[in-house]
Amino acid sequence: MKFVPSLVAVAVAVLTVGTANAQDYPGTKPVTFVVPFAAGGPTDRVARDLAEAMRKTMPGGNFTVENAAGAGGTIGANKVAKAKADGHTLLLWHIGMAATPGLYRKLPYKPLEDFEYLGLVNEVPMTLLGKPQLPANTYRDFENYIRANSGKLNIAHAGLGSASHICGLMWQHAVKLNDSMTTIPFGGTAPAMTNLIGGQVDVMCDQTTNTTSQIEAGRVKAFAVTTAKPLSNHKLLKDYPTLQEMGLKGFDLTIWHGLYAPKGTPEPILKKLNDAMKLALKDPEFIKKQEGLGAVVVTDKRMERAEHKAFVAAEIAKLKPVIDAAGKFAD
Ligand code: ASP
Repeated sequence: MKFVPSLVAVAVAVLTVGTANAQDYPGTKPVTFVVPFAAGGPTDRVARDLAEAMRKTMPGGNFTVENAAGAGGTIGANKVAKAKADGHTLLLWHIGMAATPGLYRKLPYKPLEDFEYLGLVNEVPMTLLGKPQLPANTYRDFENYIRANSGKLNIAHAGLGSASHICGLMWQHAVKLNDSMTTIPFGGTAPAMTNLIGGQVDVMCDQTTNTTSQIEAGRVKAFAVTTAKPLSNHKLLKDYPTLQEMGLKGFDLTIWHGLYAPKGTPEPILKKLNDAMKLALKDPEFIKKQEGLGAVVVTDKRMERAEHKAFVAAEIAKLKPVIDAAGKFAD
């Protein structure tokens, strides 16, 4: 008689293979953090520091970074949403995960359905910057200069839906200078920063993980920070006012980064990754590097998978009206 495997037997075999793979994880194959922006920028920086820390907390884990820039981060996110759910392709992305649903009428993936949430990593303030040649040295002078030169200047960002884009939109809306500058999109704020330093672009708002060293070296001018509270503990950034102090009532923008896997990644792999990530967030070396760049490593419940997802869902709801008020659709 011909052997016909029962459905149960097939299911058991599939489960056994899945479990065996999960037990062997990570094995010898690299675990890639897909960064949806150009190399050398703020998100890339977080990913590389986290990869280094997780190499220590998941022995044998060969964590690497791949840059898949474009469309404000949605190209890289889509790549991970469609990747094999084997724990070897992960997404390291920021607030864009929650901002793009409000900015794009159509996304090629569903942020809350197509990913496994692995935990929130850090929070990063932003700084409002000008090119070194800009004839302003204080926030007041800066705002007056932009107002006086409406229509003549340009503002760089890392694509529609990026943090720099959201920050620029919110700021222009808050000071009632909507569409006062031409926007110039780049694949990330690393190339945008090169152009700001070179004077090809006039203005940019970017995360402190990318701007601190440039401000310190005097390669760009900084005018304000975007957080509600001053960055009193940071040796350099404490000297800059918040936008609220400059009269922009309620202005409060902090960028956060989280780690994601494609939906359907086996549970034991998700647990291994979350455990290794949580240990990495306690690594003094990782904390020190991040703090030096103005970032704050997550210490609360949002490093847990369920809390990370609940936080992003709440951020999607919170950002939608802000983006609707400030901006335009990306598509
Ligand atoms: N985080 C982006 C980057 O790494 C920049 C942005 O979101 O504005 O380039």
